[in-house]
Amino acid sequence: MSAATSDAGAAVLDRGSLDLPYTREDDHFIDGAWRPSTGSVRNVVVDPATEEEWGAVPNATAEDVDRAVAAARRALPGWAALAPSERAALMLRAADELERRAQPLAWTNSRENGSPLAETAGAAANAAGILRYFASLADHLETPDVRPFPNGGGETVVSWDPVGVCALIAPWNFPINLVVIKLAPALLAGCTVVVKPASPTPLSIRLVVDAVAAAGVPAGVVNLVTGSGAVGDTLVRHPQVAKVAFTGSTPVGRRIAAACGELLRPVTLELGGKSAGIVLPDVDVDELSRVLIRSCLRNTGQTCYISTRLLVPAQRYDEVLDAVTATVAAAPLGDPLDERTVFGPVATRAQYDTVLEYLAAGHAEGARATTGGSAADLGRGYYVRPTVFADVTPGMRVAREEIFGPVLSVLRYDDVDQAVDIANDTAFGLGGIVFSGDDERAYQVARRVSTGSIGLNFFASNHSAPFGGRGDSGLGVEYGLEGLHAYLSPQSVHRRVR
Ligand code: NDP
Repeated sequence: MSAATSDAGAAVLDRGSLDLPYTREDDHFIDGAWRPSTGSVRNVVVDPATEEEWGAVPNATAEDVDRAVAAARRALPGWAALAPSERAALMLRAADELERRAQPLAWTNSRENGSPLAETAGAAANAAGILRYFASLADHLETPDVRPFPNGGGETVVSWDPVGVCALIAPWNFPINLVVIKLAPALLAGCTVVVKPASPTPLSIRLVVDAVAAAGVPAGVVNLVTGSGAVGDTLVRHPQVAKVAFTGSTPVGRRIAAACGELLRPVTLELGGKSAGIVLPDVDVDELSRVLIRSCLRNTGQTCYISTRLLVPAQRYDEVLDAVTATVAAAPLGDPLDERTVFGPVATRAQYDTVLEYLAAGHAEGARATTGGSAADLGRGYYVRPTVFADVTPGMRVAREEIFGPVLSVLRYDDVDQAVDIANDTAFGLGGIVFSGDDERAYQVARRVSTGSIGLNFFASNHSAPFGGRGDSGLGVEYGLEGLHAYLSPQSVHRRVR
């Protein structure tokens, strides 16, 4: 790729030379093939670094959704009848196929949502890892599960059946990972699926569908329809959908939960967060600086579990604030297709407006920007200057609400009890980190924080451990055996032992 220089001096890479398999498309993936939409409405895909419209996809009609669900319904008995190890073998092949598509997938993803290549270059490998992890659980499903009655009156054979056709609805921030974390357990369980990606990111997911098809997963097992939130709603309420798995915002999650409640349809919701990073007085500031951006501002701050509230002891506040400010100020902001970029643009015009509104709220409420604090002028694109707000108090909007942009709020506390109280004074309960030089002390504090996951001096999701939110952060879990069971329905057969 060649580079040109914008007025502001940031490199803008030439997009014309990228070899992208999908740009302007007219079809959905239904019953094993790309099939034209029955409607004529198209939604555009905009590059947030350049504001150019570079792609388009069809907005599915109710008929498209119906065809996709019908294909999934037809494929269900055959797919469910395979042994888990047979399904796992196809998943392993899909993982290899996906890794073969890593490069175009990364470019497409970065052009869709502005995630730096440093993030998207690993998306295929990470998704392949998820497929391989769930494939490794085939043994778990094939091991007989026989449970004696506690009173000795007989025994029960517990079998696990697929729940049926699943609707998988994903957001735009990690469009591959957040589909595959639903797809992989669904496939192993024997479910068939219809995927609805977010409107800003409808193209990169096509490479996942291609990988699954190339691996030999039968027609109808995986279907993809693109379109707006209304398409998602049609899918959620479709009479032949048996389960919904959703990642996205809390307001939309509530609407989906209400629909599923009415329909008595199982639903998994992975929603927003406002996690706290509790810095203990014995923190190693160099170590904190090393992991800061990944822990608190990953993916230009557009990551659900990151610790966007940093709680710092009064006696070390100035020292930690200086280190945090220097780290954020030094991280390159620029074209997501430049491998050196740490902060890209935010994903959409709407998100850009939202983040600027939060910056204005922070200034108005008395927070002090030690770096950033405004839009960034790179000539074009939805760029916001990565921002550290100091002197934030727990009641401010920037301390309470999910911003989903490159904004870190730094709060002060006097003792650890107060830090734990501030951390827990939120409607959310998703992630968090305790930063300390002493792992045992950090662990004891972590156990007092009410969130589904929390890390000691770092945060990462572990494919084999449950990940989910409490309160407004969601319902149910993904990852791990627990994540697999979200796609299974038990049948207990009781028998006398003769
Ligand atoms: P949204 O909730 O706006 O959208 C998520 C998905 O739902 C999109 O595909 C969207 O389609 C679709 N959708 C919108 N309305 C409906 C509806 N009524 N019925 C069914 N589907 C609908 O979230 P964003 O895409 O803006 O993603 C950002 C949010 O996701 C953040 O709040 C973040 O915290 C959360 N998130 C949570 C994670 C977690 O694991 N807890 C991980 C990552 C993100 P469309 O795009 O067409 O509107």
